[in-house]
Amino acid sequence: MPTIEEELGRRSLLYSLLMPVMNQFVPGLDEGKGMYFLFVKSEAKTPGGLMARPVLTSYYKSSYFRDRPYDPYTNYTSPNETILCPDSYQSMYSQLLCGLCQNKEVLRVGAVFASGFIRAIRFLEKHWVLLCKDIRAGTLDSQINDPSVREAVKRILKPNPELADFIEAECRRESWEGIITRLWPNTKYIDVIVTGTMSQYIPTLDYYSNGLPLVCTMYASSECYFGLNLNPLCKPSEVSYTLIPTMAYFEFLPVNRKNGFTNVSQSAPRNEKEHQELVDLVDVKLGQEYELVVTTYAGLYRYRVGDILCVAGFKNKAPQFKFICRKNVALSIDSDKTDEFELQNAVKNAADHLLQFDASVTEYTSYADTSTIPGHYVLYWEIGLSGATPIPPSVFEDCCLIMEESLNSVYRQGRASDKSIGPLEIRIVEGGTFDKLMDYALSQGASINQYKTPRCVKYAPIIELLNSRVVSNYFSPKCPKWVSGHKQWCT
Ligand code: AMP
Repeated sequence: MPTIEEELGRRSLLYSLLMPVMNQFVPGLDEGKGMYFLFVKSEAKTPGGLMARPVLTSYYKSSYFRDRPYDPYTNYTSPNETILCPDSYQSMYSQLLCGLCQNKEVLRVGAVFASGFIRAIRFLEKHWVLLCKDIRAGTLDSQINDPSVREAVKRILKPNPELADFIEAECRRESWEGIITRLWPNTKYIDVIVTGTMSQYIPTLDYYSNGLPLVCTMYASSECYFGLNLNPLCKPSEVSYTLIPTMAYFEFLPVNRKNGFTNVSQSAPRNEKEHQELVDLVDVKLGQEYELVVTTYAGLYRYRVGDILCVAGFKNKAPQFKFICRKNVALSIDSDKTDEFELQNAVKNAADHLLQFDASVTEYTSYADTSTIPGHYVLYWEIGLSGATPIPPSVFEDCCLIMEESLNSVYRQGRASDKSIGPLEIRIVEGGTFDKLMDYALSQGASINQYKTPRCVKYAPIIELLNSRVVSNYFSPKCPKWVSGHKQWCT
């Protein structure tokens, strides 16, 4: 995405609005620190000689972040050097170590997206023995060999056998329920994005934090930053973002997502032109869904970000938007189109069926498998099982059917009537598969901060990776219900 120097100033302005808002709801945050897991990625040069790097890397490397004046509201446990270290292992290890050493001072914890925060907890599960060893002796493991990181950590790390014993005792306990509040007892909330597809991490975060408030503070992208949540303690399902009109010129393309696509009308007929007409920020209507279109200072003109938003209310006259989904993240075999939102909902409905076995779907992705005739939807599930009872195959088959029943009528018609879609398949993958998927994405240049598990995959090496880790698979035993009658399609 093209960007310009002054854009960093504009983005910092949005960041600077976050704490004044938060302070209205959670006072006293200036009396302690934030433990945020933030990362940079190495940059590349374009053939024309411009720097190419993820937006957050640009921001963390800029003087806006590095040379920020001391402010009790932006006082983090991670020294800048640990955030700026390009080696993700060293960066994560040193940030966790510093966070653990200052555990009593931590008042809030977070990362950019929920997935990044959970990755930090997983890292702790794997490496707490080594971390405790360092805390006990006040020494730093030799794998951390970046001199600036070593120096920065040494300013914080002092031998503390008492703290090491405490952390060890907590991490050794069989259950990691509430581990965040146990290790960082003064934490008031978790600052991570859990809207959009990130909502599937809410149960895991609730488990690790004993239900601490999950706070989504802002909505932004590489193209441009958009806005912030003025009611940060609301439930994740109620989060809406107020766009800051000086971030870019915002326009909105009305969409009728319920129809799946814009050229089909199920309810009152609509004027085709009306669909295409861009609406200004001041003219959006309550309850209407729109695709966000931005014209940025850096030169994007009427650029479709790909996000679908719904007007959920107004702050004075400023509209507030719920994030609905990313457009076109679709599974499609025939004329069906399944977006991320529907998929998420279907997975949730099916995963609820596993609760009786104390099991949950910890990660998922999907694939439109057209190598069979007819093609079918494949869902890759990674399962977290805390109960002792094995899950019978019939339960997974029921899950397949529940998912199909949850999908839209065009899909169900394809299955039940047209037979243009084959039975939905669930492939259970072994634990750690989605970490491997992330590692693969990172190795291909994805940014660790901005990484989001793809909810639909098409790229052959990724499908191969997933298939190589399948432990069992199940198909929907029958067709989902579909009632013929009303016309779905316009020709
Ligand atoms: P990137 O440019 O890779 O950081 O991705 C930006 C995209 O991430 C946005 O266009 C959204 O689709 C998604 N995103 C960013 N912030 C949020 C948020 N607060 N809630 C839901 N999705 C978000």
